[in-house]
Parts: sequence; structure tokens; C-alpha cells
Amino acid sequence: MKFNDIKRSFLGPLVGAVPLSLSKWMSSGTLIILYYHVVSDDRLPHIQNLYQYKNIRKFSEDLDFLLAHYSPVELSDAIKWVRGDKVLAENSFLLTFDDGLSEVHDVIAPILLEKGIPATFFISSAFLDNNELCYLHKISLLVDSIKQGISPGKESEIRGVLGEMGLARSPLSEEVGKVDYRQRGRLDRIAEILDLDLQQYLILKRPYLSSDNVIELIKKGFTIGSHSIDHPYYSDLSLEDQLRQTMESTRFIRRRFQLDYGAFAFPHNDQGVTRDFFSETEKSGLIDISFGTGGMLNGNFAGHKQRVSLEDPLYTAKQILAWEYTRKTYYLLRGKTGEVEK
Ligand SMILES: [Zn+2]
Repeated sequence: MKFNDIKRSFLGPLVGAVPLSLSKWMSSGTLIILYYHVVSDDRLPHIQNLYQYKNIRKFSEDLDFLLAHYSPVELSDAIKWVRGDKVLAENSFLLTFDDGLSEVHDVIAPILLEKGIPATFFISSAFLDNNELCYLHKISLLVDSIKQGISPGKESEIRGVLGEMGLARSPLSEEVGKVDYRQRGRLDRIAEILDLDLQQYLILKRPYLSSDNVIELIKKGFTIGSHSIDHPYYSDLSLEDQLRQTMESTRFIRRRFQLDYGAFAFPHNDQGVTRDFFSETEKSGLIDISFGTGGMLNGNFAGHKQRVSLEDPLYTAKQILAWEYTRKTYYLLRGKTGEVEK
């Protein structure tokens, strides 16, 4: 069972009861690093079936809570901090957003500017400028189409495609959701069966940031990082492919936007990433800081930090952080340090 499931099923209702000041004291740390993907008041069919996200009101409330209890820091401060060149204020936070979605420019950045909060946006190089649709967003669109109703003929055709991948037993929308990065080519075949024009969705909806959007964000003081080429699970990749996804995307983003710093956020998580990976990226000199999605527990690489997701609309930032402080304390008491495996 994943921690998130435990949180929802058992501890969810109790989390709000944990006094934040107490749990914060128990695990005192300098910088918390937070992330979201998207904020919107709209239904987003390419995301709707992957995860739930906060609306503008809930997002603004999160930010007001953070500003009341923590001080925002810039990416450059975090880089100096991991190098030991800067001391940060005791409750600092760094805000980040993954996947380079267009809402970053249209919805999120204006709110952050109004509140005076800096942020870093992580972009997968293949999706910048809406050149390609991420396989995860394709899955959400396919599930959306299936949920709207499907003929028995099409269903059996899709089950045929899924069957070739060893999938097909559960309800169709569930099975389509299980198609992984390595099998992503089949998603286009399923879209054809559903008469779903994914290319047209990409052209009309333009779900990702354009280069012009990014240039505008940089001019406004925001920072940009890379998020792999096309969002694989790193645990599915060889070391060589992990490095290719990381270096190529980082090199591309840094060159395209003339960045004198390198920040990288692992897509999904950093599971399956070894010491060899970090020694190679360190040698390359391309990446000053990297981020996982493992909460508050940090490992033995100074330049690699974990982040807490504030995305879940069922919980406020306060509730999520109280939970994360509690979780961190629990792990630390058990002697778990978040070390990267050999
Ligand atoms: Zn991502």
C-alpha cells in the first residue's frame, strides 16, 4: 500500500488534528520544497483522469498559508544552499511546478506575481511548444472518451490491442490507464479505434508552454528546469537511457533559454536511480540541483532534494505539511534516512 493510500484511508481525517507547530518542531528543517503540476477552475480532459488538482481559490489559500508560516526562496538561493554557500532562514520554501503545462503561464504565474512568490517550472523537452502529447495525457484523453460511451465492437477491438500487452481483464478505462511508457505506441492505435484525433487536441488545446511563454516567464523573474525528454519512469530505463533523458533535456532547455544554471526534476520519481547516475550528472557539470518527489526525507546527495506535492485538492497545504512532518519524524525514528541505494 502506498503512503498516499494510507493517508487517505486511515489518517486523512486525523491529519488536520496534528498541530503543525508541534510536528514542525519535532522535525525542524530549513527548506521545504513543494510542487504542483497544474491549477485550474476548468475541467482538463488530458489531466482529469490522471490526478485531481486544485482550483484557483484552494491554490491561493495554500499560498497564503505558506506566506504566513514560511519565507519563499529563489532557485538560486537553494543552489547556493546545497553548495554550502548560503544559510537560509529557518522556515523557507521553494515552490516548483512540473510538466510545463500552459496553465503555468495563464493561471499560476499571474497569482504568484501578485503574491510575490518566486517559482521554478520544469519542462519536458519533447512537449515544449506543443510538438508532442505526453503519453500520460494521451491516456487521460482515451479514458475520457471511453467513459463517454463506447460500442461493443470498438471495446472488443481495444481489448484486442490491450491483450497483446497482457492487459484486458478489468474495466476498459482502468486497463487503458495501465499502459506504461514502454507500451505508449499502442495508445495511438487505441485512439484510432476511438476515432479520437490526438493531434487535433494538441493543436487546438495547446496544453503545454510555448517557448515564447517561457521567455516571458523568465523575464518576469521565474526560473526554468528540465524534466526529462518525454517523461519515462526512470526505474524502467537503463543507466544509459536515464542519463540520455536527463542530459539531453537539460542541455536543450539550458541552451534554448540561455540559462546559466541547471535544475532537473525527475519525472514521476527517482526510484531506480543509483549513485552512478548522480556521479555522472555531477561530472557533466550540467545540473546544479535535482529534485525527487519523495516528500521531506533527503538522502546522501547534497545536490538532490525531495519535494512534497501540494496538489491533492482534498487537503490544504497545512494538512499535507502536517502529514509530511509526521511521516518524516516516523521514518527518522525508524532510522530511515532516504539514502540513495547502491
Ligand atoms: Zn512530471
